[in-house]
Amino acid sequence: MSQDFSAEQKRYLEGFVAGAAASQVVGATAPAAAVPTGPDAPHLLAQDAQVKAGAKLAEPEKWKRDEHPFDAWQRLTAEAATGKLPGPADNFRWRYFGLFNVAPAQDSFMLRMRLPNGILKAHQLAGCARLAETYGGGVLAVTTRANLQMREIRPENAKPLIEELMDLGIVARGSGADNIRNVTGSPLAGIDPQELLDTRPLARDWHFHILNSRVLYGLPRKFNVSFDGAGLSPALEETNDIGFQAVRVPEGGAAEPGIWLRIVLGGISGHRDLARATGAFCRPEEATAIADAIIRVFIDHGDRTNRNRARLKYVLDAWGFDRFLAAVEEKLGRPLVRIAEAEVAPRPPTDRYAHVGVHPQRQQGLNWVGVVMAVGKLTRRQAEGLAAIAVECGDGDVRLTVWQNLILSGVPDGRVAEVEASIAALGLSTTVTPIRAGLVACTGNAGCKFAAADTKRHAMEIAAHVESRVAIDVPVNIHLTGCHHSCAQHYIGDIGLIGARVPVNADGDTVEGYDIAVGGGFAENARIGRTLWKGVKAEDAPRHVEALLRAYLGHRQGPAEGFQ
Ligand code: SF4
Repeated sequence: MSQDFSAEQKRYLEGFVAGAAASQVVGATAPAAAVPTGPDAPHLLAQDAQVKAGAKLAEPEKWKRDEHPFDAWQRLTAEAATGKLPGPADNFRWRYFGLFNVAPAQDSFMLRMRLPNGILKAHQLAGCARLAETYGGGVLAVTTRANLQMREIRPENAKPLIEELMDLGIVARGSGADNIRNVTGSPLAGIDPQELLDTRPLARDWHFHILNSRVLYGLPRKFNVSFDGAGLSPALEETNDIGFQAVRVPEGGAAEPGIWLRIVLGGISGHRDLARATGAFCRPEEATAIADAIIRVFIDHGDRTNRNRARLKYVLDAWGFDRFLAAVEEKLGRPLVRIAEAEVAPRPPTDRYAHVGVHPQRQQGLNWVGVVMAVGKLTRRQAEGLAAIAVECGDGDVRLTVWQNLILSGVPDGRVAEVEASIAALGLSTTVTPIRAGLVACTGNAGCKFAAADTKRHAMEIAAHVESRVAIDVPVNIHLTGCHHSCAQHYIGDIGLIGARVPVNADGDTVEGYDIAVGGGFAENARIGRTLWKGVKAEDAPRHVEALLRAYLGHRQGPAEGFQ
């Protein structure tokens, strides 16, 4: 055993090793006695194995080893109460609690929550708006994982903010660092007339399974899981490490008919890869156990030495699906079901405007209303106003989407006009436009230290520029991401921009700019875009996007030929 372990970690490990296998999965057939007693054991054992093989651990792995972040709460909060922002190691630990020191972009914390399936109650949205103003900069932002963030949080406000967030019934645990991120699902789950499956119970089950575990934290790298119910609005599950896709297997084939989940693995669009079908399928009620088993294999075998290759994709690339699925089956204690793709009905098509505007629900007489927001931003007044509308005119739910907007559901036919007017009075819109419905931007350099450009501002400038010049009549997704972390998933946009510093003279001076890709897509059109231009100055980006749209309009056979 490595000499680098603390006495407490050694005790865990020794108890664990005596206990048997590296980790056992929920629902497995193995006896209960085989479940590890040492909560930190799997990731420490995996570290130890890689060190023994001669590799050097990545810095964050050492931080996990030195002090488990969940054991650091008292120390971290005491230090934050003095007004001091954490250094790199403790910044990493704070992320286990959902708080990020975003200096030097801003001299403060950013908070990211967890909202399973992107759904919260109206009172929770109003409560978050109050907390954003009390403890932060007063603005909520909807993220590309159908989640909420708030910024400008002074260190001394970190503890009361987390506590009061939990008073609202919202947790932030594990929303950052090497953990399983907010679980996404179909934003119209349960109200969508075409869905095959309501993803809400699956997302909730997975959400609470993670929260009630300790072993499922401290992965080699961040990890994303998503459930798609095959509804009108996609969940973008193909960009996740694990995607569960609801499919129908019709009667009359070799496979058992009914609704299944296709298991797709290894999505990471920033590394130019979408999740691929494994040939394995499961029933919806098995999803949590199978996701758990997949992650335990990743915990044991993911790369803990090279952060650039520490995602699930790289285990899959090295092993292939056959070996990986065999390891998952061993964890699970039973084989996974294989179904030939020829036995599976095609996914019903998505509607790229389904998350915006007024649409009839599967429940007769009720509607959902998708609200357009300025690249995800909400003021306190707007958030409280939307919460009031959701309670007075809707079913009280607020649904966030990966398109950085939100949906109010359960609005009776007779109150739709009133709801639209109330939303307009808040300075927001329900009007569908081909550009704004698919305009996505990450935080950018206004709040993220990694960003090479002010993505949100430039997104609004691009939209304003092209909307006044080009009569585009088909949906066009424009995604702006500030760096290679690809939070806005530029490679799946019809037009994708990734921030780049652009040289302007021989002295090495640079300005904000972008590399521009085209031809990405998602859902039934999933594909990775191709880089067309590199090093376009931000001030020139609107004209480049305009040129792309004009070229499309000038060369298409008709509107049926979409931009992609
Ligand atoms: Fe920050 Fe990069 Fe993510 Fe944008 S893509 S929010 S710049 S980490």
